[in-house]
Amino acid sequence: VKRVYTFGNGKAEGKADMKNLLGGKGANLAEMNLIGVPVPPGFTITTDVCTEYNEKGKDAVVELLKSDVEAAIKNIESLTETSFGDKTNPLLVSVRSGARASMPGMMDTVLNLGLNDDSVIGIAAKSGNERFAWDSYRRFVQMYGDVVLGMKPESKEEIDPFERIMEDVKERKGVDLDTDLDVDDLKELVTLFKAAVKEQTGHDFPESAWEQLWGAVMAVFDSWNNDRAILYRRMEGIPDEWGTAVNVQAMVFGNMGDNSATGVAFTRDAATGENVFNGEYLINAQGEDVVAGIRTPQQITKDGSLKWADLQGVLEEDRVDMYPSLEEAMPDVYKQLNEVQQKLESHYKDMQDLEFTVQDGKLWLLQTRNGKRTGAAMVKIAMDLYREKVIDDKMTLMRIEPNKLDELLHPVFDLEAIGSAKELAKGLPASPGAASGQIIFFADEATKYPETILVRIETSPEDLEGMLVAKGILTARGGMTSHAAVVARGMGKCCVSGAGALKIDYKERTLRIDGNVYKEGDWISLNGSTGKVYDGRVKTRQPDLDGDFGQIMDFASKYTRMSVRTNADTPKDAVVAREFGAQGIGLCRTEHMFFEGERIKTVREMILSSDEDGRRTALNKLLPYQRGDFEGILEAMEGYGVTIRLLDPPLHEFVPHTEAAQQEMAKEMGISLAEVKTKVSDLSEFNPMLGHRGCRLGNTYPEITEMQARAIIEAALNLKARGIITKPEIMVPLIGTVEELKMQAEIIHTTAELIFKEKGEKVEYLVGTMIEIPRAALTADLVAGIADFFSFGTNDLTQMTFGYSRDDANKFLPIYLEKGILKNDPFQILDQTGVGQLVEMGTQKGRSVKPELKVGICGEHGGEPSSVEFCDSVGMNYVSCSPFRVPIARVAAAQANI
Ligand code: PEP
Ligand code: MG
Repeated sequence: VKRVYTFGNGKAEGKADMKNLLGGKGANLAEMNLIGVPVPPGFTITTDVCTEYNEKGKDAVVELLKSDVEAAIKNIESLTETSFGDKTNPLLVSVRSGARASMPGMMDTVLNLGLNDDSVIGIAAKSGNERFAWDSYRRFVQMYGDVVLGMKPESKEEIDPFERIMEDVKERKGVDLDTDLDVDDLKELVTLFKAAVKEQTGHDFPESAWEQLWGAVMAVFDSWNNDRAILYRRMEGIPDEWGTAVNVQAMVFGNMGDNSATGVAFTRDAATGENVFNGEYLINAQGEDVVAGIRTPQQITKDGSLKWADLQGVLEEDRVDMYPSLEEAMPDVYKQLNEVQQKLESHYKDMQDLEFTVQDGKLWLLQTRNGKRTGAAMVKIAMDLYREKVIDDKMTLMRIEPNKLDELLHPVFDLEAIGSAKELAKGLPASPGAASGQIIFFADEATKYPETILVRIETSPEDLEGMLVAKGILTARGGMTSHAAVVARGMGKCCVSGAGALKIDYKERTLRIDGNVYKEGDWISLNGSTGKVYDGRVKTRQPDLDGDFGQIMDFASKYTRMSVRTNADTPKDAVVAREFGAQGIGLCRTEHMFFEGERIKTVREMILSSDEDGRRTALNKLLPYQRGDFEGILEAMEGYGVTIRLLDPPLHEFVPHTEAAQQEMAKEMGISLAEVKTKVSDLSEFNPMLGHRGCRLGNTYPEITEMQARAIIEAALNLKARGIITKPEIMVPLIGTVEELKMQAEIIHTTAELIFKEKGEKVEYLVGTMIEIPRAALTADLVAGIADFFSFGTNDLTQMTFGYSRDDANKFLPIYLEKGILKNDPFQILDQTGVGQLVEMGTQKGRSVKPELKVGICGEHGGEPSSVEFCDSVGMNYVSCSPFRVPIARVAAAQANI
């Protein structure tokens, strides 16, 4: 097997479509060589080797790689006319991770590898720049010490050991900036850094270039399994087995002086999707300086610089001197970079996120990838590319990550409320959205309050976990391209970065802004679209959905086979869902209306009655309420199917639990408190989810089904009288045997016939069932003999197939996920391997008896993209999900059919 792929000087052994093997970075480095973009030579060790490493360990893998890596290093040496490990003319390399799917900043990187006490002198002589040589060396010792040798801060309140040494030296020298340190300071830093390594690890810092290289390669493999990478994979659904590739590449230096620079750019705006080239760079710096958010970077374009100065409140005259754009500072380089970005975007036909370095006036590209973007940018970029005729409508639709549409439906600040809110500070609009929350300063404390804003000096990938939980992220330093800003946009999480006015004290847990002190737990609000920070909690409202969103939905309608219904219990929900394009109701849980207003008392009266007569009296009082509810819902969904489910939950859920409420019921019903208490305790069950619920209620108390069937049929008749034609679908829950359904169906039909006689008028209706008990799926052919339709209730089906209680699984599911026993939460993502078999079998068996049997799903999975795809593959007619997931399901359903 081939484990190492080389690239350089316009040639490459790999190409763009080899991402699985070479990782995204490696595949694109190869591709850029092939299309004539300047890339430093190097090689990629495949992702398969990461798997081998995890199985066999370091020594075995070095053995397998040795001769290939030696040859690949030789190739770089000959292309760069340098020599690895040499004293006078050393080859220096970077060692970087690169998985199949981009995981920005989650894994490790080592730069300037190959430097030691001898070669640093060679580099100094060769470059004629001693300061640069020693700056590179101290960076290398620092990075290698951190990444490979494990030199980490002692606690979360502490800075890392190298930073602390650096702070000390700076203080002693009386300087503020890293760039103010001279050659002797840098030499001292190297000595102090190495001493710290020796002290903390007990080993000398490795001098041999080869030892350094193998150490770094293995550290990159190891970083596949660091905490933040694991969390990120879980968040993005990236499988643990994929592994990372390792890219080793000749170094080019952005820190060689004022004619050198390094930066990150986007071919379009990753926050808004606007078609403007943008990005950030730093003169005389290395890549990590930009993304790590340690120095606040400058803008690539002149326009961007103006906009940024505006946002930061920097006066224009100051800006030109302090923060020139690349366009102004290095016009030739900018021109080249602009050409390259256009070339890359039209080659990849998508927005690119690129990394570049300028070494002594020459431009080099270090990476290109499809850029992470917000939901709004995703929609806009896809539609713009469609209008530019770069991609067709199918491709446009495929560019939509369904789950990200959710962001577009999130609330935005109420204009009036924001107008009168107290503005505290301004930062960069790193990721749009509106967020209010209580301040926390540490990522691992993000759950301290129900809604939190994570406030940090600088954004770091370590904060990932907290970012995920927090409502928003606010940082004092760092730009639009800092790792965490990129990740925040990827998550669609509101983020304001680089708000320079913030003074954060981790030890005191305070945030000072212009003399005002905010403590942990104080409320603030962030507007990620403007970069503004506000005092307190600002009111929000629902967003307007613009034209591009509607266009995407039209494409979805064009290509979908399944239809999308909604789970809705009230006319209001039904109306919202219709606006999102729902075509009918797949599940109306009738019991949800039992809690409205005064009717819960009547429901309780029914439940607490000791005989059928008592129940019928109460049910007669409930009838008009239910009939009214159903009229509302059927009318709101006029023209579409509406599935109304009969009473499902255990009765114990409705009884009064407090003494006061029990007293009230006793009075209402003219019985004693003791009687009420006895009845309540009679109804309590050990295992309510497997107890007296679902059709078991209607089969033991047929009068409940009678009342509900009557309410539905009469509602349809009333509407018919008003010229509104509906066809209700009455659904029986939780059947396990066909007899259970048969008995319910009989009650419903008898009731309907009775009403038709009474009124001298008829309506059409269907009687179907949920398939949510494994036995129902296994005997679906028998069930289909009675049922007009099936709706898979995958919440209960998952509960009963796994034997995991829906209500208690959160005690062990998180641990199961952490330990890898389960890959996903099966209540969120349909388990296709197990539960999926029952769904497929149930559908097939049902249709073997009734080929035209209408089949849908109404469990939570009906709005989850991978589950929707599965539903399409088994041939369902529709999926049904909550109103706000309807757009997501529509796109997922269309994608499944493309
Ligand atoms: C289901 O079980 O999947 C379902 C939709 O019903 P409920 O969640 O109400 O039990
Ligand atoms: Mg159910």
